[in-house]
Amino acid sequence: MATKGVFRVECPYCGESFDADFWTVVRGDRDHDVKELILSGEFDLLLCPKCGEMLQHSEPFLYIDPPRDILAFVMPESYEAEKDKWIARMQADYEPVRAALTAGQGLTGEPLCFFGLGQLAAVLESDRDREEETEVLEFMAREDGLRLLPVKPAAARELDLPFTIPVRAGMTGRAAALSAAEGLYAKNDALPRLKKLVDFLKTPGSETVPFLKKK
Ligand SMILES: [Zn+2]
Repeated sequence: MATKGVFRVECPYCGESFDADFWTVVRGDRDHDVKELILSGEFDLLLCPKCGEMLQHSEPFLYIDPPRDILAFVMPESYEAEKDKWIARMQADYEPVRAALTAGQGLTGEPLCFFGLGQLAAVLESDRDREEETEVLEFMAREDGLRLLPVKPAAARELDLPFTIPVRAGMTGRAAALSAAEGLYAKNDALPRLKKLVDFLKTPGSETVPFLKKK
């Protein structure tokens, strides 16, 4: 599947029409520079070759990050008015390549649909905070000889938890996780998602929530 496409764009400043390259597929786990452009808001900016003005132009694209379990249709904000039509069209385009894109990649959920880069950027930003917090937590956990278990990315997002949870050796189940999380939180209370993990693990019924990633 081609990852770039050429689309005709008209400059709103001087009326010039020109061809521009657009990403049609972005691999968030590989195309790090492109991901940065999405986060910085520069992804859909173009320079008019005639007048040199900067203009914004969006085309739909697929954003995929299998390790983080994200598969998203990212559509221009203006498409939201005809949401159902565009989602159906993206689904139809995506269906023939679904198997090739998802095979053995660990992608689980149905595609997400975003209208406007901002919606995708918000998820990526919150994931980045979560990653940073998870790294601190993992570092502390290793120093304390705790084990680490991966959380399903979608569950981590939904429950706003770290991407991994610490577990105390020699204990089992929820008690092992709660004891480890409380121990770490006592040492560092500046980790909001660690606090949420402690609260989550204290919630009756949390032991039946399948939020851990299967190995
Ligand atoms: Zn122009």
